[in-house]
Amino acid sequence: MTAVVVEKPHQLTLRETAPEEPRAGEVRVRVRRAGICGSDIHILHGTNPFAKYPRVIGHEFAGEIEALGDGVSGLAVGDRVVVDPVVACGHCYPCRVGRPNVCANLEVMGVHRDGGFRSRLVVPAANAIPVGALPFDVAAMAEPFSIAANVLERTGGAHAADTVLIYGAGMIGLTVLLAARLEGARCIVADIDDARLARAKEIGAARVLNVRRDNVPEAMKSENDGLGPSLVIEAAGAPHLIDEATRVASPAGRIGLLGFTAEPTPIVQQEIVKKELTIAGSRLNRHLLPRVVDWFASGRIDPSALVTQVFAARDAKDAFALIDRDPGSTMKVQLDFGD
Ligand code: MN
Ligand code: ZN
Repeated sequence: MTAVVVEKPHQLTLRETAPEEPRAGEVRVRVRRAGICGSDIHILHGTNPFAKYPRVIGHEFAGEIEALGDGVSGLAVGDRVVVDPVVACGHCYPCRVGRPNVCANLEVMGVHRDGGFRSRLVVPAANAIPVGALPFDVAAMAEPFSIAANVLERTGGAHAADTVLIYGAGMIGLTVLLAARLEGARCIVADIDDARLARAKEIGAARVLNVRRDNVPEAMKSENDGLGPSLVIEAAGAPHLIDEATRVASPAGRIGLLGFTAEPTPIVQQEIVKKELTIAGSRLNRHLLPRVVDWFASGRIDPSALVTQVFAARDAKDAFALIDRDPGSTMKVQLDFGD
């Protein structure tokens, strides 16, 4: 079986490894399709603070159940599943209050432990989420959309009455856009790249702003009866946007943060208190893959437009080289692990 391994920063290899047997409470998944994420690129480049090497990368993957360990119920050999990469301890404080994605002993597949860029792997049965008859390319998009589901969950959801400002028209910004549109919220997307903004417009943004040309705070003065956006999502990873978000948000507004920068930035408490803003960080997802699977299965979100290239898994190096060389031509690049 083929595994895509980052041996050490900047060194990607394909390895042949023997399949493991599932123990009690585990299942073995025959992986069919997997998506490459920015965080996989960071592990390859040595810029992910959590990664240990060598590492089988990959945390966005779907396939079918191939073997069941003892005591597994509700899943059968042949079931199509997507795997939730978040493995939590189940007994620390965040786990006890239903926040396993910030578990004190968190292990994310493909980051803290070996992941899904391989033909077969064993995962906890609870992490294998059935997807019915969804095609594998669609099912493998559930994890990236769970990032959007989680930030909306953390910020009270996007509703018809909301005006949503999304910073960033990369993969995460666009998944947030599609999820925020579900109940009819008005969505505005800001980015530095016109091609990305054109894509955002195509898939439902009511208004797009190029921050190199347009003054976002100025533009927000005409939104939501002059109050500014009721929901702001920071999916661009630029620290100064936290301050801008507090300034443009409407009274009673919510701000969701997805960027993961360690750079300090000033913010003004008065803006937050005066308008009683809610600011929420969002990391990974808490048990939200079933919700995303339902979005896909019901046809309310079609993620396939975001899959821009598919490579055979044995050509994984070419896939990573393309993303490095010409990131503008890619949105989601997938690896096909064959039948
Ligand atoms: Mn991802
Ligand atoms: Zn825990």
